[in-house]
Order: sequence, then structure tokens, then C-alpha cells
Amino acid sequence: MASVTLKAINKRFGNIVALSRVDLHVEDGEFCVLLGPSGCGKSTLLNIIAGLIPQDEGTVLLDGQPVDRLAPRERDVAMVFQSYALYPHMTVSQNLSFGLRMRAVPKPDIHKRVLETARLLGIEDLMDRKPRELSGGQRQRVAMGRALVRQPKLFLLDEPLSNLDARLRSSVRLELKRLHRQIKGTIVYVTHDQVEAMTLGDSVVVMRDGKVRQIDRPETIYARPSDTFVATFIGSPEMNLYQGRLMRKDGRPHFQGSGFSLDLVGLQLNLKEGEVELGIRPEDIEIGQGRAMALQAKVEMLSNVGSEKYVHARLGQEGLTVRVPKDAAFQPGQVIPLTVDPHRVHIFHEGLRL
Ligand code: ATP
Repeated sequence: MASVTLKAINKRFGNIVALSRVDLHVEDGEFCVLLGPSGCGKSTLLNIIAGLIPQDEGTVLLDGQPVDRLAPRERDVAMVFQSYALYPHMTVSQNLSFGLRMRAVPKPDIHKRVLETARLLGIEDLMDRKPRELSGGQRQRVAMGRALVRQPKLFLLDEPLSNLDARLRSSVRLELKRLHRQIKGTIVYVTHDQVEAMTLGDSVVVMRDGKVRQIDRPETIYARPSDTFVATFIGSPEMNLYQGRLMRKDGRPHFQGSGFSLDLVGLQLNLKEGEVELGIRPEDIEIGQGRAMALQAKVEMLSNVGSEKYVHARLGQEGLTVRVPKDAAFQPGQVIPLTVDPHRVHIFHEGLRL
């Protein structure tokens, strides 16, 4: 397999800037996920790596070698699309072997590779069926198989699970993770689903408006988002984020929000007083009065997702969501004390993490 490097990729479609100075390095064997809202440029970037769309500026390197002049076929990458793009008139077996037949691979090798791939994906029993006789999950596996059988340098996957229902999606996600461990291939995977990105990626590239906002391991993206966009895009329910002023009170750092204030004692901050945004994840708020200075919030309603509940409350003039255990009981109108560990808050200045 190959490493992928992108250097200062720019792409416009008329007046639309689809990609702006995108730099990226994906190690050999790495599972890299491109994550971002619709229209942020994920698919365009994937198509540029594949050679299906030319970039305006910048370079694509596979294993350190520029491939900008190579046609898609010559780049030796395999792509799996959201639509699967299987040949409807061919059986599963023919769909799997098609790419190898086109490349004039000797017949016995084709047979061996198709069989191995089918075994790996657990689709041996479906070999004589046509795509219309398959379920969504089975079609998805055949599409993956068609990419795998070629033993390419690189796999490019564009939202391959988005046509599956939620349950199937989570089981195919696990399969995909297992498969990646087995084949040790380099994968660049596009999704707008943060759960997919967090569970699958060795690294996650968060994009917005054609720009890379952060590249990191999933746990770092979650724990140390580099800006308020990443902070609120990753995490469900999303991070509580407040505009306010950072000041010193009796020498201690202190956040003054709209109608509430929070003591940030113990937090080492090398910044002056001034306007900031303060973020608190719903699971980083404890109900009850702890050692740290408490807040008070008024419960508005509860939402129950089965495994846990979320309290939606008012904190001063702001909204607040708190994650609580599934058996927690609160009434609308109830005033509850909350504790926030100052080391768990995220502070941003002009949108960027401090
Ligand atoms: P989605 O998740 O909806 O597929 P995406 O992040 O993959 O979105 P792209 O498809 O890469 O986004 O599109 C990036 C931007 O470029 C969008 O504003 C889109 O409208 C625009 N765009 C993409 N392809 C073309 C094209 N062929 N002609 C004109 N504009 C395009």
C-alpha cells in the first residue's frame, strides 16, 4: 500500500472555492477520515486524489511520487462510491472479477483472488446472484470486494455506508474496521457522520468551506478541538458554548457570561482579560455541589435516549445541556446546582482554541 501526500491543493468551480490550500499526509496503512458538513469539499478532494478531477494548483503524491500527470487508471487506486456502482447485469462473481479481467490478469489468479476476497467479506454464497437480488448491506460488501480484489495502492471510500439503515450501518462499520486491520491498507474515507469518523479513523480531517480545520487522532479532536467549529461539530449533544468575558477576580481567573459567572480557579491561562468563548461538554457538568464553584440552572425539559438522559436547562440567559444517568429524574422548573471542573472547560478567543 502507499502513503498519500497532498500539498497546497486549490480547486475552484467557477466562483466557488471548493478547496483552499489543503495539505494532508496519510501514512501507509492509515485509516484517514475526511469529515465535514455537506459542500465542504470532501468528495472533491477524494476525486482529486483519484485523478477523476484535476486540481487547479498543488500536488498529489503517492509514496512520495507526484501523480498529477497520471490518469486514474495509472494511479492504481480503488474507489467505492455511495451508490456502489455495481454492474446490474453481472453476477457478484463477475462484478468482483471485472477489474482484473480488464487488466488481463491470468484466469487462475483471478479465480483465486475473487475467492479469497469473497471469503474475507463472507459473500461466498452470493456469487451467482445479480445486484438486484442483494440487500443493501450485501451490495455494499460486493462494492468493497470489487475494490479489495484489485489489491490497489490505496482505497478511496466516498460515504459508502450512507445508503444503509442505522442498524446495518453500525454492523458494517465494525466489519470495515476489522477488515482494515486484516488488510492493513491505506484508506481515505469520506463521511459527514461524526460517529463514523470517530470510530473508524486513525486520523480525522475536519473540513469546512474547502479548508482543513483540524487533523488529529479522534480522541484529540474531541478533547482539544482547535476551534469553535470543530468543538461544536464533534460531539452529541453538542458542546455548550458561551460568549463572555474572561477576567481576574481576587487574582483568580473568572468567566462572566450572560446572567451567570464561572470561577476558573486553578486554570493556568496565559491570556489577558477580554472577550472569549467558553465551551463545556454536556458530560463534563456534574449535578450537585462539588468542590469547584457551583452554578445554578433551571430545568426546561428532559430528553431520554434510553442509555442516558439529557437535561435541557437555562443558565442565566443561555441554554445548557447536561448529560445525566438514565434513571435521573428532574421536573421542569426545578433549579439544580451544577459543578464544572475548570480543567474541563474549553476556552476560545475569536473562534480559536487558547
Ligand atoms: P457532500 O457531503 O454533500 O457530498 P462534499 O463535502 O463532498 O459534500 P463537494 O461535493 O466536494 O462537497 O463540493 C464542494 C463544493 O464544490 C460545493 O460547494 C459544491 O457545490 C461545489 N461543486 C462540487 N462539484 C462541482 C461541479 N462539478 N461544478 C460546480 N460546483 C461543484
